[in-house]
Amino acid sequence: MKIWTNYLTPSSLSDALRALRESPAPVRVVAGGTDLLLELQQGKHAPVHTLVDVSAIPEMRGIEIRDGHLFIGAAEPVSRVAASPLVHEHAQALSEAASLIGGPQVRNVATLGGNVAHALPAADGAIALTALDAVAEIASPAGTRRAPLPSLYRGVTQNTLAADEVLLGFSLPLKGPGEASAFRRVMRPQGVAVAILNVAVWLRREGERIADVRIAIGPSGPVIRRMTEAEDALRGQMLTEENLRRAHEAVLEQARFRTSRHRATKEYRQRVVGVLLREALTAAWERGTVNSEQGLGSRD
Ligand SMILES: Cc1cc2nc3c(=O)[nH]c(=O)nc-3n(C[C@H](O)[C@H](O)[C@H](O)COP(=O)(O)OP(=O)(O)OC[C@H]3O[C@@H](n4cnc5c(N)ncnc54)[C@H](O)[C@@H]3O)c2cc1C
Repeated sequence: MKIWTNYLTPSSLSDALRALRESPAPVRVVAGGTDLLLELQQGKHAPVHTLVDVSAIPEMRGIEIRDGHLFIGAAEPVSRVAASPLVHEHAQALSEAASLIGGPQVRNVATLGGNVAHALPAADGAIALTALDAVAEIASPAGTRRAPLPSLYRGVTQNTLAADEVLLGFSLPLKGPGEASAFRRVMRPQGVAVAILNVAVWLRREGERIADVRIAIGPSGPVIRRMTEAEDALRGQMLTEENLRRAHEAVLEQARFRTSRHRATKEYRQRVVGVLLREALTAAWERGTVNSEQGLGSRD
C-alpha cells in the first residue's frame, strides 16, 4: 500500500497554504520527515494522500534579529540552529538542545518546526523554546497569528494547529543583562532517540538573587508546560542547597512523571530530575554572572 500519493514541494508560503487547502485529503505538512515519514513507514500513521514539503519555503527559513527579537524559521534544520552564533548568544539552552538531537544525519534534515509540531512531551527543541519564552508565528490563509509555545499542545503527539495552518517560525526575547539559559538531559546510553529526561532553564540574575526564572522539563506530563511551582520557589531567592531542594520538591509536586516500558521508571525520573535541575540552574547562574559583568551582548 502507498503511504502517500502526491508529494508537493511548494516554493512560497502562499503556494504551500494553497496546497494545504486545495489538495485531496488527507493532507499533511512534512519538513525533514524524521518523525512523520518514519511513522508512515512503520504504520503508526494512517497513509496520507498529499504531503506538502515546507523545507524550501523562504518565509520559513532564516535565523536573524527581527523587530528586537531573535527569529528562527520553522524550516531551519536543527544543525543550523545548533551552529548559529546568534542562537548561542541569545538562547544558549536551545543551542545546547539542538546540538544533542539525534545524530549528525538527523540534525541535518530534522527541523525545529517539526520538533515543536510533532508534540512529543520530551522534544528537546520544544522544551528549550518553552523555557526561553518563545512565541510561535503561525500562518494560515486568514493571515498570521502568534501563540506561546505551551498553547500549541493538546496531548502526546497532538498539537492545536488547524489543518490549514503552518508554523512559520519562533520569536524569542533577546538576552538582557544578567540573563542566561542552559539545557541538560539524560539519554539511554545505547542510542539516539528521545530523551529519558530533559531540563531547560532560563534565569535573570540580579546580584546574588534569582530575579526571575523559567523552567521546562520533559516528559513531565502529556503536554509541554512550564514548571511554575518550582519557578515560584526560586524567584527572588539565592541559589542555595535549601532552595535547590525546595525547587526539586516543587517539580515533584507539579510534574506527572511516569514509567515508560523502554526508557525509564517514574522513580528514576523523580530522582534524576533533581540532578539535572541543579546542573542547569548552576550553569545558567554562572553564565548570568559573566553576562551581567560584561553587559548586553556578552558571550561565555
Ligand atoms: C534517529 C532519530 C533520533 C532522534 N533524536 C531526537 C532527539 O534526540 N531529540 C528530539 O527531540 N527528537 C529526536 N528525534 C525526533 C525528530 O528528529 C525531531 O522531532 C525533528 O525535529 C522533527 O523534525 P522534522 O522536520 O523531521 O519533522 P517531520 O517529520 O517532517 O514532521 C513532524 C510533524 O510536524 C509537522 N510539521 C513539520 N513542520 C511543520 C510546520 N512548519 N508547521 C506545521 N507542522 C509541521 C508534520 O506535519 C508532522 O506532524 C529523532 C528522530 C530520529 C529518527
